Amino acid sequence: MPLSVFDLFTVGIGPSSSHTVGPMRAASSFPTLLGDKLGSVASIKVDVFGSLAATGAGHGTFDAILIGLEGCAPDAVEANELTARRTRMSETGTILLGDAVGHGVEIAFTEDDMVKRPLTIKPRHTNAMTITAFDAEGQTLAEETYYSVGGGFVTSETEFLEKEQAAEVVAESGEDDTSEFAVADAVVDAELQSYSEELPYPFHSAVELLQRCKESDMSIAEIMLANEKSMRDEDEIRHGLLHIYSVMEECASASLDRSGYLPGGLNVRRRAHDWYLKLKAEDPDRDPGYYLEWVNLIAMAVNEENASGGRVVTAPTNGAAGIIPAVLHYALNYVDSVVKGGEAAKHAAIVDFVLTSAAVGVLYKERASISGAEVGCQGEVGSASSMAAGGLAAIMGGTPEQIENAAEIAMEHNLGLTCDPISGLVQVPCIERNAIAAGKAINASRMALWGDGQHRVSLDEVIETMRQTGADMSSKYKETAQGGLAVNVVEC
Ligand code: SF4
Repeated sequence: MPLSVFDLFTVGIGPSSSHTVGPMRAASSFPTLLGDKLGSVASIKVDVFGSLAATGAGHGTFDAILIGLEGCAPDAVEANELTARRTRMSETGTILLGDAVGHGVEIAFTEDDMVKRPLTIKPRHTNAMTITAFDAEGQTLAEETYYSVGGGFVTSETEFLEKEQAAEVVAESGEDDTSEFAVADAVVDAELQSYSEELPYPFHSAVELLQRCKESDMSIAEIMLANEKSMRDEDEIRHGLLHIYSVMEECASASLDRSGYLPGGLNVRRRAHDWYLKLKAEDPDRDPGYYLEWVNLIAMAVNEENASGGRVVTAPTNGAAGIIPAVLHYALNYVDSVVKGGEAAKHAAIVDFVLTSAAVGVLYKERASISGAEVGCQGEVGSASSMAAGGLAAIMGGTPEQIENAAEIAMEHNLGLTCDPISGLVQVPCIERNAIAAGKAINASRMALWGDGQHRVSLDEVIETMRQTGADMSSKYKETAQGGLAVNVVEC
């Protein structure tokens, strides 16, 4: 399937798309994999590898796996249901395998039963887990290895093998090079080739995207919408995009009501609540001079909610979830044409913003990565900042070339950003970093709109630079909490 806007923006739970949402999504698919064999399961084994095992405790990974094994998907489970399931599990020491998708089989299994292998890095990806189910005689009923590859996306070993087979077909078309890189390229080529067959306006680079806009005289948002319409009808798309925004808004406002300390033992105080009360009193009429304070506030509120395990929209990841809501807040409250256009203009702006930023996000997901574990924070916060800059430039009336320029500027100045969260918690530097990146996105859009869209470094070049920088980056700085702030700040 081609990448949809609803793949990049999904409703999930905090604090991490790769370490919480992905593992829950993977575990929730296992009861379905068992199918008719579910009733014969007597025991299960869960092996957790690499970064998932290393920083899983701080990210709620193990809890997410348990909830997922009961069949709960992150976008469907409500907060009160999560609490009820957690309470029952800790009281009984058992899980109800597959409970949320039909018949639940009670099995003795707790977090302590999981086998954690932080030093074992699976060749395909550092975020890996294997789930095995056995019958009463100890015979294996089903086994699958899952890889949480960033942004809540999950690929199973079976899917990897299928892609490799598809790649062989591409490789057989005359290429002699059978090196690992050539095969990896062939996998990507095979995927992109299949995407192209399904979309009216396929694009796999910014150059192609701009070309599609030129040929069809359509905006980036219109191109993205036309592609989405090959997967679902227009009403469903518009309704879905407004729903995404409403979850972002609910997330920020829920957070603004909460005070106290974030979980995890790092003693990080929630700041958004107090800031909100102070800012509301100081700027009751929304003077434009205060715009950055409001943008900072929304970004921090969303990320504090994420850090406390609340309901968020991955945009495109949980760690970077505050940037797009904060920049959207700016678009809806400080861009004249939107402010003066009433409710209809507001809805149109939300749809255009999210579609445009998703088109930029597709490029990062396809050509590089949006995973901190793969390329560091430049892939999470950098991609979100770039997506937000593109979305805002669209709302401010930018041409496709100016939008591409805005997205490029935002990423160019996030290159090299490492992922080094203290204690593996998505708190420091993540929360403030979202606010800084939101401001950067607004600045990038404004800079791009002063130009005519012609610029020296292309978005494709900067995405490729980000990919290469990520490949060269030491694993200490890729969501392992073994370098940077994670080792230089004293925890107390
Ligand atoms: S440092 Fe960046 S990539 Fe790492 S957990 Fe925080 S937000 Fe995510």
